[in-house]
Amino acid sequence: GKVCVTGATGFIATWLVKSLLERGYVVRATVRDLAKLEKVAHLRQLPGASERLELVEAELLSQGSFDAAMNGCVGVFHTASPFFFKNITDPQTQLIDPAVKGTLNVLKACVSANGVKKVVLTSSTAAVIYNRANKSGALVDETWFSDPEYCKEVQAWYVLSKTLAEKAAWDFAKENNLHMVTINPAMVLGRLLQPTLNTSSEAILTLLNGTSKTYPNAALGWVGVKDVVNAHILAYEDVGAFGRYLCVERVVHYSDIANLLSKMYPEYDVPTK
Ligand code: NDP
Repeated sequence: GKVCVTGATGFIATWLVKSLLERGYVVRATVRDLAKLEKVAHLRQLPGASERLELVEAELLSQGSFDAAMNGCVGVFHTASPFFFKNITDPQTQLIDPAVKGTLNVLKACVSANGVKKVVLTSSTAAVIYNRANKSGALVDETWFSDPEYCKEVQAWYVLSKTLAEKAAWDFAKENNLHMVTINPAMVLGRLLQPTLNTSSEAILTLLNGTSKTYPNAALGWVGVKDVVNAHILAYEDVGAFGRYLCVERVVHYSDIANLLSKMYPEYDVPTK
């Protein structure tokens, strides 16, 4: 059966569409603006795309926008959501509304389409780990949810958007008997197939191109994009998949990343502190 991928222009979604096409799926993919040829050309060039990829327009903030996209689909991968940390002047309209209202728009469309059997939602470890209880040494698992009040206190607006979106999705799925599984990846890295620079890749690039004079004093979880995409497809194909799946390959401090980068790319000016 046909599957739908939302936000197909994105970093993870492009890899997901590529992998679904390789596996023989017929894919309908949503993008914001089909007229922006430079944002969709790489999708049309994927192997199998000319036979089995259909691109349609949908916008997270406009109600009913996804209704046509879900029509005739048996599976939905909802990846579209704004992901940025910079230039946030109005968190509600820039991040929270598209994440939360957008997710509900997508899920409502899945219910009205009638044929959707399973939804795989791309959530994040952002929706899991931001909690006062998360002290060094704590064992974090899939039962954890980030605390919205704490996110507001520390002004972690992207984190808040993902937390509220996942919570709203679970409430909606339960009320409407929608079979949903979430994939909650840590920071995702891999080769870029899309022409734009996404936020997790930018976190590495700024250590190479001279933008950052120092590295952040933080240890984050990291995971490869191919693993994240496989997790999405497994969650869809495996009838036993349920609930949330954290996707983290390892936790690495930025000092180790900087060390590694300076060894791999001695010609670049990687920060040493
Ligand atoms: P990208 O920024 O590359 O992709 C985001 C996608 O969402 C783009 O296709 C973008 O469209 C779309 N989008 C944003 N706002 C809207 C809107 N208002 N209406 C319609 N579409 C919209 O991000 P990633 O691939 O990195 O992230 C994809 C998903 O994975 C997100 O849900 C993110 O929260 C999640 N995630 C990412 C991680 C990472 O490290 N990369 C880690 C954990 C979770 P357009 O191209 O037109 O802007």
